[in-house]
Amino acid sequence: MPDKFGFSTKALHIGQPVEKEFNSVVPPIYMTTTYKQDSPGEPKSYDYTRAGNPNFGFLEETLASLEQANYATIFNSGLSAATSILSKLQPGERVISIDDVYGGTFRLMKNTFIGHHVESVFGDINNEEWLKNELEKGARLVWIESPTNPLLTLADIQKIAELAHAHNAELVVDNTFASPYFQNPLLLGADLVLHSSTKYIGGHSDIVGGCAATNSKEWKEHLDYARKAIGFNPSPFDAWLLSRSIKTLAVRMNKHQENALELAKRLDSHPKVKTTIYPGLESHPQHQLAQKQMSGYSGIVSVLFDLDLEQTKKLISSFKLIKLAESLGAVESLVCHPASMTHASIPRELRIAHGLEDGLIRISVGLEDVEDLWIDITSVLGTVEK
Ligand SMILES: *Cc1c(COP(=O)(O)O)cnc(C)c1O
Repeated sequence: MPDKFGFSTKALHIGQPVEKEFNSVVPPIYMTTTYKQDSPGEPKSYDYTRAGNPNFGFLEETLASLEQANYATIFNSGLSAATSILSKLQPGERVISIDDVYGGTFRLMKNTFIGHHVESVFGDINNEEWLKNELEKGARLVWIESPTNPLLTLADIQKIAELAHAHNAELVVDNTFASPYFQNPLLLGADLVLHSSTKYIGGHSDIVGGCAATNSKEWKEHLDYARKAIGFNPSPFDAWLLSRSIKTLAVRMNKHQENALELAKRLDSHPKVKTTIYPGLESHPQHQLAQKQMSGYSGIVSVLFDLDLEQTKKLISSFKLIKLAESLGAVESLVCHPASMTHASIPRELRIAHGLEDGLIRISVGLEDVEDLWIDITSVLGTVEK
């Protein structure tokens, strides 16, 4: 069943086989570590679950089809997927990435064993001169996110892929914020796509997981090898749960977007709001690029309030429905405060220079009735004095 089907049909039918013994419509959970061999060294299909499991295979088939990829490999977290990709690099090889790369990815590239053998540089990927200059110094990978966290900056994936390829580098796109529903980077020339399935793909704040998709057989073999060799397998149960979550990915993403756009519009005209950042707003500086390379704008809205640090902290601690928590992409709305949470370790001056002001919050807009979310925000806003 290749790509003639639409996204939702693929999500429901590819990698979701009817079970053979009892014709159960939902594939069972293969909660096993090992598989009986008929003769030594000749397993039927799998030998040990760290290397492979039917539930991994089913989910990989679904994810590959949704990312329009030949292959996908699943991992026990987004960062395991990232580590596995980076583990292909030889000592001294370089990665060019973005200033506002996900904090965990930055930590991985700078502070862990990966950082000891791979050199990483970070900058403004939309500055073509900088990027060309870095590419000319030699790089194995360019590693981007689009949209980024929390300022929702886009990168022109097609253009960056062309530049990278012209310099013998490959392009990795962390597609977590868009989900495969709104953006397929491989179609724009990327070589690898990475997701934290913990976010939209899982979508219910109950599974940590990750995946990488590619058209390259060599990369697929590397990813499978890395999972087995490093020990980055998820549990069959988590893989099964993700296969279940994926069935509703399209309806969830449509509703996330509908709610996010409505909230963004309303916030944008609220007197206490300085700026509303959402790629679906015409005021977003890269709205046209979003229209070109995405099929929708996803569900994250960042808002800069005309409030100081304490007022902003009070605001987001006082919401009744919108939960103050890390993470994003779930059915329930979550809010976070970059200045005191995800980006607290960056000195204030530097943080503000990068646009992460004290009054900035990030809302992962959930699937609640949008009117209730609006009441939650505005009723508290009225009590925070400026
Ligand atoms: C959460 C996240 C990750 C890391 O994924 P985990 O599943 O938490 O390991 C990577 N990239 C982005 C953009 C994320 O939001």
